[in-house]
Amino acid sequence: MSTTSPMSDTLLKFMLGPGHVRGVAVRLRQSWQEMQRRGRFAVPLQPLLGEMSAASALLAGSLKFDGTLILQIQGDGPLRLAVAECQPDFGLRATAKAADDLAQALPQADFPSLANRHGGGRCVITLDPRQPGQQPYQGIVGLADAQGHALGDLASVLRQYLDQSEQIPSWLMLASDAHSACGLLVQRMPDSAPPGGTEQADEDFARAVHLASTLQRDELLALEPTEMLRRLFWEEQARVFASPQPRFHCTCSKARVAQMLRMLGRDEVESVLREQGEVDVRCEFCGAAYAFDLVDAARLFRDEIDQPPGPSQPQ
Ligand SMILES: [Zn+2]
Repeated sequence: MSTTSPMSDTLLKFMLGPGHVRGVAVRLRQSWQEMQRRGRFAVPLQPLLGEMSAASALLAGSLKFDGTLILQIQGDGPLRLAVAECQPDFGLRATAKAADDLAQALPQADFPSLANRHGGGRCVITLDPRQPGQQPYQGIVGLADAQGHALGDLASVLRQYLDQSEQIPSWLMLASDAHSACGLLVQRMPDSAPPGGTEQADEDFARAVHLASTLQRDELLALEPTEMLRRLFWEEQARVFASPQPRFHCTCSKARVAQMLRMLGRDEVESVLREQGEVDVRCEFCGAAYAFDLVDAARLFRDEIDQPPGPSQPQ
């Protein structure tokens, strides 16, 4: 297990007892503060984006998958879109689009009034494989329960997603403030014939959820994951597995912006060039600015002739 300082970002995978229950604990500090600094999120969006960032790391940590996990909330209220992405090495980035007057209109917005005002909000989870040629996988759930009642927070939405789409009984808790974005995920192992039988696995999972449910929000925010797991599961023989340390990382590059401009088309790019002299693109995740002048633009579409059209790339 790695040693951690109070400022460090930590992700721990763990297993309880004879192995019927697994989990992930994450605490983002520097990476979350960097995401806020770069993304300049409107104040009412900060809690949700922190929770989404922690959740994307939890989900990526729980899956055996080599690629990018993209968690989106497509809102039908003042929040149009919120995105958190986690790379296989736990490089994280996040962004959001919302109504301009959000901070005045909803200074203390809860999740349903932000994202599910008219009942049409959606949560979309995309697994985009690193291996070229493989198809992305996408799971979509609404932001309401089976009876149509709006779910009160992101954790409830993801719990429903994991139960329904992934069919893995799961419990999770998320919390964020200006300093930290944290989460705890507990899952019953998806197995066929566990030692001790299915009943034992159900029992072990129920006990783990009971223990995890005693966790308070301020404890989740304040405690190092190692200490939190020790306090919650000290009788459960928790085995903890080291993981790469989460960090802020944006995958944007001039080549990716060029690809995006090619998809936009020569006419559109030339029209902006005529009006403004250059095409300026700002990365929504990290704020990096990319400028394409006449020479760059000419190269953009000259190269196009030599290249087969590639798959669409996120910026
Ligand atoms: Zn970027």
